[in-house]
This record gives sequence, structure tokens and C-alpha cells, in this order.
Amino acid sequence: MALRRPRVVVAEEHVAQRAERVAGALWGPATGRCGVTRDPFRIEGPAVVSFSGGRTSALMLRRILDAHDGRLPDDVHTIFSNTGKERAETLDFVRDCGERWGVPIVWVERSASNDAGFVEVDHATASRNGEPFVQLIEERSFLPNAVMRFCTQELKIRVMRDWMRGRWYEHWTNVVGLRADEQRRVSRMREREGRERWDLAFPLHAAGLTVDHVTKFWRAQPFDLRLQSYEGNCDLCFLKGRAKRDRIMREHPELAAWWIDQEAAAQARFHAHERGYAAALDNTRRLPVLPFDLDRTTEALPVAALTDDADDGGIACGCTDRRPARVRCTCHKRPGQGHRMLCPMSPFSRAA
Ligand code: SF4
Repeated sequence: MALRRPRVVVAEEHVAQRAERVAGALWGPATGRCGVTRDPFRIEGPAVVSFSGGRTSALMLRRILDAHDGRLPDDVHTIFSNTGKERAETLDFVRDCGERWGVPIVWVERSASNDAGFVEVDHATASRNGEPFVQLIEERSFLPNAVMRFCTQELKIRVMRDWMRGRWYEHWTNVVGLRADEQRRVSRMREREGRERWDLAFPLHAAGLTVDHVTKFWRAQPFDLRLQSYEGNCDLCFLKGRAKRDRIMREHPELAAWWIDQEAAAQARFHAHERGYAAALDNTRRLPVLPFDLDRTTEALPVAALTDDADDGGIACGCTDRRPARVRCTCHKRPGQGHRMLCPMSPFSRAA
């Protein structure tokens, strides 16, 4: 026994040192530029906890609260940006998280008629018929789509930024609820880091939490988001895969009206290669079997899966990340020719 004991100590030390090294590599020193200490859920302000109203970001908020003994530091703010097209269940869930956990959640909405660019609302006054979204579409005179996703930028990201700027913060940490199983999205956001006024922190990702942890957590809670995994974010968001949109339209045909109205008003479609929301609604009413009836992926999703998963061909919309800038051709290549070596589209430039 006397010989074995030091070995255990050495092994424990080794594990502790390794964990420290990993944490250091991920987060830098305790007061590193991420603004996050070695416990990824201990947030150093100023910071915004970006709360989407989904189960994953709610778990993140809970863990952050726990790491701070139930009370956030004064310069760490939890913000929920309402587009006006969130489901009523999402609004209830945001309210419930705030009330049950005793955490102040700032509800904001874009408002072009207000000098600040946003208004603060609450559960009672939040828009429920897409008013901020409609105002944005009218200003731009065209519809957002998968390539020009300006709704995310304007209705979510910019509103949070304006709120922080309105509090005189120059630079802060944006705490985002991406999990360890969303590595691709984390990497994409990291690529853009430093171009804005904020650094990024992904505590769930750093702590290795996956969708299974989210599922387990919410099964044990006395309240929950009363939506299926495919129903979150804007109710019929154009980034949701076709099967999901069809399914939602069959279950809630009344939700289609707003999207149909926007397409009619703009005389355009959210999806260039589809026949529009009116035709899709018609299909869901007429056809006895739709692709989603045969598509097991929408059935197989765990209830607590993140509401913006992209498993059925939809593009994930966490409403916090953006697409990387498009690489454009500068050599004006002709059909059948390759790009010139110095053109950003040439394989040589890309490799460099
Ligand atoms: S959920 Fe979809 S429609 Fe809503 S803001 Fe995000 S990208 Fe736009």
C-alpha cells in the first residue's frame, strides 16, 4: 500500500495538470481575451449572454447562474432579441426562465422609428405578428433568403449590439450557446472573431456539453419549452428544411399566412427555387403524404434538440452566427477556363 499511494497522487496530478492545460489552450489565462475564467461558466463582464429562447441557451444561462451563486455580475446582461415571429411558447419560456431563476432578461426588438434603433419590451408587450420583421422588409424592399440573411443581422445581432452601446460599453464578450457537438458552427464564428466589438465565448462547447446533456437537463426540470425540436426560432423560418416547414404548416396552417403575405407584398419568394409559401400550404392541405411523413429524421430528433439544427438540409440559424464572407472571382474567367493564379477563387490562392 505504501508503494502504491504516491502513484495515485501522481496520476491525479497528471489529470489535473492536463485539464488545466486543455482549459488554458481553450480559454487562455484566467483573465484572457475571451473574458472567461477557467470555469467556462464563470463569465467576466462586460458580457452579453445571448439567449435565443431555446433549451440549449437556457441551459447555458442556468449553468452561468450556478457558477455565479445564482446572481449575474452587474455587467453581465442576458438579452433576448424578439423578431416578432417567435412562437408564443418561446416567449412563455423566456419569461419562465427569468421568473423561476430570478434572473433579469432584457427583451429587445428592432425599431427603426426609435433613435436608439431598438425598444425594450417584455412578455406582455412583445410583438407577436412579426412587426419588427415587416418593418425591416419594407425598409429593404426585398425578402431575406439563405444567401442574404439580413434578418439575423438586423433583428438579432445589431439589436444586441445597440443595446450594449447604449450602455456605453465599447467592447464586451458575447456568450453564445453552441454545444460541443456543434464544432463546425463554433469554428465558423471563430473565423470572424475580432471584426466586431465583441469577443466570443462558448461555455457549453468548452465544457463538452452536447445535446444529450441538454435533453437530460430539461427532463429533470419542472418546466420546459413546449415546442418540438423543429419548431424553434421564427416559426416558418426560410432556413428550416422543406420537410420541417411542411410539417409545421400541416400542424399549424395558420402560421403560413404571415409568410404568404410577405411574399405577396414583395412580389418575391423567400426561396428562389420553390413555389412559395402559398403553394407549400396548398400542398400540405391537398396531399395525403408529404416528404416529412417519410422522413424519419424529423421524428428521430430528441425533443430537446437545439431548435435550429440543420439535419434535414436546413441551414442552422442560431441567429448569432453569420455566413463567412463570399470569395468572389476577380479574374473574370470565361466558361471552360480555370481561374488565374492570383484570383481569390483559384485553388492556389485558397491554399495560401
Ligand atoms: S430564425 Fe430565420 S427568419 Fe428568423 S431571424 Fe433567424 S434567419 Fe431570419
